[in-house]
Amino acid sequence: MGLLYLGTPLAWDDAKKYADHVRNHGITQFLHIWDRLKDRHGDELLWGDELEYMVISFDDQQKNAKLSLRQTEILEKLNAIVDDICADCPENVSVPKFHPEYGRYMLESTPGSPYTGSIPDLLSVESNMRYRRTLARKHLKPNEVPLTFTSFPRLGVPGQFTEPGYDPMNAVSSHSLFLPEQITNPHARFPTLTANIRTRRGSKVAINLPVFFDEKTPKPFIDPTIPWDRNIYPEDPEAKNGAALPDHVYLDAMGFGMGCCCLQLTFQACNVADARRLYDGLIPIGPILLALTAASPAWRGYLTDVDCRWNVIAGSVDDRTDEERGLKELKNNRFRIPKSRYDSVDLYLSPEWMNRPEYNDTEVPFDTEIYDRLRKHGLDELLSKHIAHLFIRDPLVVFSETIDQDDASSSDHFENIQSTNWQTLRFKPPPPNSSIGWRVEFRSMEVQLTDFENAAFSIFVVLLSRAILYFNLNFYVPISKVDENMQRAQKRDAARSGKFYFRKDVYPSDRSATNSVASFYSGRSSPLDGSIPKQKKLLNCFTPPGPPVNGELKVPIKDEYEEMTMDEIINGKGENFPGLLRLVSAYLDTLEIEPEALAKIEQYLDLVRRRANGSLETTATWIRNFVRSHPRYEFDSVISQEINYDLLAAVDEIERGARREPTFLPEDYTGGSKDQGSIGL
Ligand code: ADP
Ligand code: MG
Ligand code: MG
Ligand code: MG
Ligand code: MG
Ligand code: MG
Repeated sequence: MGLLYLGTPLAWDDAKKYADHVRNHGITQFLHIWDRLKDRHGDELLWGDELEYMVISFDDQQKNAKLSLRQTEILEKLNAIVDDICADCPENVSVPKFHPEYGRYMLESTPGSPYTGSIPDLLSVESNMRYRRTLARKHLKPNEVPLTFTSFPRLGVPGQFTEPGYDPMNAVSSHSLFLPEQITNPHARFPTLTANIRTRRGSKVAINLPVFFDEKTPKPFIDPTIPWDRNIYPEDPEAKNGAALPDHVYLDAMGFGMGCCCLQLTFQACNVADARRLYDGLIPIGPILLALTAASPAWRGYLTDVDCRWNVIAGSVDDRTDEERGLKELKNNRFRIPKSRYDSVDLYLSPEWMNRPEYNDTEVPFDTEIYDRLRKHGLDELLSKHIAHLFIRDPLVVFSETIDQDDASSSDHFENIQSTNWQTLRFKPPPPNSSIGWRVEFRSMEVQLTDFENAAFSIFVVLLSRAILYFNLNFYVPISKVDENMQRAQKRDAARSGKFYFRKDVYPSDRSATNSVASFYSGRSSPLDGSIPKQKKLLNCFTPPGPPVNGELKVPIKDEYEEMTMDEIINGKGENFPGLLRLVSAYLDTLEIEPEALAKIEQYLDLVRRRANGSLETTATWIRNFVRSHPRYEFDSVISQEINYDLLAAVDEIERGARREPTFLPEDYTGGSKDQGSIGL
């Protein structure tokens, strides 16, 4: 989440008066950054992950695994420890950082300083993650464990699912039927966000996930755990008046989505044009990696027919009014808005020739005044439209103390809108007064149970990002197809049985496709043909060649892509489509890497290969199968307290290497935080 200001947040009726003020000054702040840094060039690769944990409190007597609401205490302790470690740590050692998150049971950790492009840094990712986990684990109570688990299966069930327990009747911010106020981080920003989304929208958020119909699930399924007739808050009747659909699991609060954990990666680019090229290259990858990292089949005590969190978070912060959602005629609002402010990317952004205008094929409302202002300032059409689109949203949290800012030195108003547009990719301008360059954040992945897996996906994506830039790969398919893929990615078992639109020819020119790796490189000097030496680290600055000399071969857009399975996309299809892993391998061929280092990298890539070809299960499939084969499961879709307890205990054992699950992790996975890992501290 964004910065945490200290101050007094305004309730929606007051905050909305400042919406234009925040937008105007936000754009001024962006333009200051733009003027100073648009020509910044030559930044090295720096990159980093964000890992989110939920702290689970195990009650072995009651066989209950609950969410521990001790975030504030835990963070105080961890940050004090971290300061201690720092007091006597060598100069080049950076200690991890721990951050608060929306859920009062959540922690986020990042490496103390970003990784560079060096091979040792690449190989340190897993031990860095493990060290962070070990540090957190050490400073919890003996019965508490930090799990990298995407959605808590019993969040919002009747009975006690937090430690300590609270009643949802006190949910003054969300008015939820299921989640108590105390689920939310107490910092004023979070309850205010929650309340202002509800007030702006004019109703509670409403998410309906299709239930997973098992052998004995009643049909139709009318959820007996919804307090249909509660009468505390004005929104209470929404459930029975149509917000809660039959045959679905109904969720009614921000906490259900923002209370999920994920894995995000941020990459610094050489310059702004490369950041835009990388952003575009990763857009079609977003849904693919969402499906491959799927880890959340269970919601509010039930198995559902989805495997991923995405639509839940999108729905959980959907602040659009009825008018904006197209349910009523536009009167008080300015735009029809097709998507929530949390959703997949709406516009490709690269100024390069490969980005044909036809790929931006969906309806994207934008603020024409802001657009004109940016164009007059000299920004190109695409970037102006991108910003003017983000800026159709209102600021949700305005602090009375920080309404007036120095626009030359602050980016708070800009970030207020920017960082509450939660899309699959985020194009991040440099913060003012820092040495940080233009960055791209990859945000779709679900967090995996072990640091081995989280490292594997992180390493796969950073290598793929290099392949995209180095070979100037062309992954473009129309945005409408990426959107369709996002929906397909979330369906049960999508990684094994789904199909996704993907580009058939990913080479950047009109040469007839070939599997020869040298041909990836469109005729420039290359370490692949020995004309320049192999590189010792992951580089960042590769000037892309212009359009092919013979002219670009323009085929109709609809012939550029086809439906492929996950196995085909990752591992290749036939003679012509190499598969993402082969592109990564071709990139690795351009590097000088010691055999042991390469073998280690291959282990990570092998996990990706096997999750994609189905020889290993996704996390979601493993969780679903665990529940369905539990001796107390009654084949009615219900995840009881005891099943949940056993599931989370098993997850902890897997992470520590105390339990083998060869259907889902490689045979030789030896686990996790039982040992310290070594990162040279
Ligand atoms: P967010 O705003 O998305 O919550 P965080 O600050 O939590 O961002 O995490 C950002 C990630 O970016 C961290 O992993 C951090 O190590 C990494 N990072 C920090 N500086 C840079 C940089 N200059 N370039 C790329 N990544 C960076
Ligand atoms: Mg986070
Ligand atoms: Mg973060
Ligand atoms: Mg943050
Ligand atoms: Mg982030
Ligand atoms: Mg081509």
